[in-house]
Amino acid sequence: MDRLVYFDNAATTKIYADVLKEMLPYFSVLYSNPSGIYEFSDKTKAAAKASKERIAGLINASPEEIYFTSGGTESDNWALKSIAFMKRNRGRHIITSKVEHPAVLNTCRYLSEQGFKVSYLDVDKYGMIDLNQLVETIRRDTIMISIMYANNEVGTIQPIEKIGKIAKLNDIVFHTDAVQAFGQIPIDVKKMNIDLLSASAHKLHGPKGCGCLYVNKEISLAPMIHGGSQQNKMRAGTLNIPGIVGMGKAAQIAGKNMENNIKKEKMMRDYIISEIRKQIPECSLNGHESQRLPGNVNFSFKNVEGEALVILLDTMGICASSASACSAGLKTPSHVLTAMGKKNEEAYESLRITLSSETTRDEIMYLLPRLKSAVESIRKMSS
Ligand code: PLP
Repeated sequence: MDRLVYFDNAATTKIYADVLKEMLPYFSVLYSNPSGIYEFSDKTKAAAKASKERIAGLINASPEEIYFTSGGTESDNWALKSIAFMKRNRGRHIITSKVEHPAVLNTCRYLSEQGFKVSYLDVDKYGMIDLNQLVETIRRDTIMISIMYANNEVGTIQPIEKIGKIAKLNDIVFHTDAVQAFGQIPIDVKKMNIDLLSASAHKLHGPKGCGCLYVNKEISLAPMIHGGSQQNKMRAGTLNIPGIVGMGKAAQIAGKNMENNIKKEKMMRDYIISEIRKQIPECSLNGHESQRLPGNVNFSFKNVEGEALVILLDTMGICASSASACSAGLKTPSHVLTAMGKKNEEAYESLRITLSSETTRDEIMYLLPRLKSAVESIRKMSS
């Protein structure tokens, strides 16, 4: 393949050169365990502290409210299981939505097997939850609300500040999976009454295998990984210093460039959306027109299976994705699109194109005609 054009930045991003550069010494010369009490450990200790400060700065948290994890999945598991476990004597009811990432949905499924009751909020045709339904779903035994900040498939941004207000008024812990939003759009945990927030470094040009959980210092959380006394015994294990340094640097860069990146990505996003609408008949945009992540484009093309389209685009060197997948001969439609009211056959037809600050005009010009011809050829084959 001569050319690789990457439009799958919601899946993962390319590490920034400056992030990698900052990480490298921590693989070689600065290899000390930050738990050491000798001077050699001071550098790695300081590096972890600086990273916490950078991450906290991005979401208006205090550094001591940031706990490092292995990524978004671990952060989601920790938040949900720990609150459920800590508060089980007060109540066993949890509220989430039908469009969460599997890291939340499957943790909720596990918790319901353990005797918790989980209510899954509906979403409208744009993927947005209904705040009235949220209020009506709250019960005396509700202990936690977990609603994602922004959806990974269709990019819809939830009314987080309003959800936070409702949770606070009802004295319920509010967790948000902000894996897709952290570093992409402004987040203020204090203003939004967020108690717990999950983030992951590899979605913002940082390394894979490193994430964090923000824990409001007013909230008591049980540790999920037991062992040594690292991170106040809340999440044991020797710190992944290179990953932590990379996440901190990625957060710092994201904060510095956020305004420009949002402007740039929105412009590219809206251009792609309008060109697809102009050039390709019988297509429909999935997700919200305006309350959507700056880098998210998601379309359904009538009579075009998303997975077939992804495979055909791949032969042209283009990486994109479809939520529907065919594994072991079994087709599974996107749970997000079905929750948004799409029929099963429509939920197989989605294509997600996700941008980053590094996406170029030239790449978009490479994508558009190829997407049009790929859609046409699949339609021709199936007619
Ligand atoms: N939550 C959301 C919304 C995601 O998009 C992802 C990853 O795609 C995750 C959680 C899991 O994050 P990680 O890959 O860091 O485990």
